[in-house]
Amino acid sequence: MKIICIGRNYADHAKEMNAEVPTVPVFFMKPDTALLKNGQDFYYPDFTSDLHYECELVYRINKAGKNIQAKFAHKYYSEMTLGIDFTARDLQQECKSKGLPWEISKSFENSAPISDVFQQTDRINPKEISFELRKNGDVVQHGHSQDMIFSIDEIIAYISRFMTLKTGDLIYTGTPQGVGPVGIGDVLEGSLNGQEMFRFEVK
Ligand code: MG
Repeated sequence: MKIICIGRNYADHAKEMNAEVPTVPVFFMKPDTALLKNGQDFYYPDFTSDLHYECELVYRINKAGKNIQAKFAHKYYSEMTLGIDFTARDLQQECKSKGLPWEISKSFENSAPISDVFQQTDRINPKEISFELRKNGDVVQHGHSQDMIFSIDEIIAYISRFMTLKTGDLIYTGTPQGVGPVGIGDVLEGSLNGQEMFRFEVK
């Protein structure tokens, strides 16, 4: 399976990163070794000193497809959950400043923590999805699906022009504003539509 992540999908986050609001989805990928299941400890990597959390809605593809039209995209997923796109911000900035791909800042081991609870999308109004990330008990990110620049259906349509989506593939749909650093000892907890979804401790 593959993990596809969307960047800059919330205007307020693009602004806090001093990045332009994109006109088509920006995506990058993480390997399957990036996944970290809920409750497992995350160990602060030795190659960064500015590790950031990015809390994101995650959709799981349930059927293979290529060149999927947006109006049919909803047939290709039925479950969603919450995850974190961990980012080594210092490495990312260095790569960006050199005009290089910033994969090393995103694709490292355990950089994609994810809840093991999935919610059925047919029971959720896609325009009424809200989520929250707390760091040591304080709310640091609050996101709402209506603030996404590109909907999951538009994202699927775009990505599937370039590659086949397969059952089990995960799409991290971008993060709202409020990204920030984590340190050893911090606890990250996420909730989706009021339901507790994950708890990760940084060690
Ligand atoms: Mg992200």
